Amino acid sequence: MILEKIEQLLNEVKGISASNAGEIEALRLKYLSKKGEINALMADFRNVPADQKKEVGMKLNELKQTATERINALKEQFSQEDGLNDDVDLTRSPYPISLGTRHPLTIVTNEIIDIFSRMGFILADGPEVEDDLHVFTKMNFAADHPARDMQDTFFVEQNPNDVTKNIILRSHTSSVQARVMETTEPPIRVICPGRVYRNEAITARAHCFFHQVEGLYIDKNVSFTDLKQVLLTFAREMFGADTKIRLRPSYFPFTEPSAEMDISCHICGGKGCGFCKHTGWVEILGCGMVDPNVLEQCGIDSKVYSGYAFGMGVERVTNLKYQVSDLRMFSENDVRFLKEFESAN
Ligand SMILES: [Zn+2]
Repeated sequence: MILEKIEQLLNEVKGISASNAGEIEALRLKYLSKKGEINALMADFRNVPADQKKEVGMKLNELKQTATERINALKEQFSQEDGLNDDVDLTRSPYPISLGTRHPLTIVTNEIIDIFSRMGFILADGPEVEDDLHVFTKMNFAADHPARDMQDTFFVEQNPNDVTKNIILRSHTSSVQARVMETTEPPIRVICPGRVYRNEAITARAHCFFHQVEGLYIDKNVSFTDLKQVLLTFAREMFGADTKIRLRPSYFPFTEPSAEMDISCHICGGKGCGFCKHTGWVEILGCGMVDPNVLEQCGIDSKVYSGYAFGMGVERVTNLKYQVSDLRMFSENDVRFLKEFESAN
């Protein structure tokens, strides 16, 4: 009888589990306390016949030991888990995972692309290492134009017999326009964003590389009025609905007539301030009607088609928008500067 009881308790004890400290204590009371089941069996032990005492005693010890071990193991498990929980400080701020920001030039380029995309312009891209043919010749630059000079342009490879075969770092994104015109039947409506290079000393106001967005529209009966309206829409989208524009006559080899565009100073609203040198206007881009020579050079019949082109420096537009005083800050990778644009994304 007593052996059966011991065996039954032993099986029970081997399978015990608990999900909290209260349950462990209940198990301890049930098996190991003075009034527990094992002690009750101990009390019965003296009634066991002498010839069975050895066997029953051994079993009883095994039961007590097993119960003690199991309950201690459960206690250990819970104290370890408590220990783990103690290490978690729920009042601590989360790990400082800092989210990167877009570069201000990327932000502004995307904004420009967005505005012109909504007016039907599509993106065009081309190589930064270009030949003279696409950068200068097709853009109507005379063979002795100063831009072709080593003082102004970075040369990768020079061809002493034929300047048009020189390999250079493109000095404007107009080369992309040339490539689009070569391969596309009008109507053409593209914008070409990209990096350009010029052989300039690096100062607060000049750099050996900067970024441009150029636009080109070629179709039948395109007039200067179309150009002006598109640029006015751009200026208003970029700098606010009450922005005014003015066009001043200018000269570029690839457009005729050509103009520089100013926008009303968005800091003083045109009244005049330090930023606009008290004129109320700030310069933003160059534009004009595509020179018929350029169209012909790129295989487009200038008697059938006409078009306009414009080009702006992304750094310039960014400066107007965010008043970055030193051009070098754009390429210094100073995180403090870049963080300023966190909310502009
Ligand atoms: Zn102003």
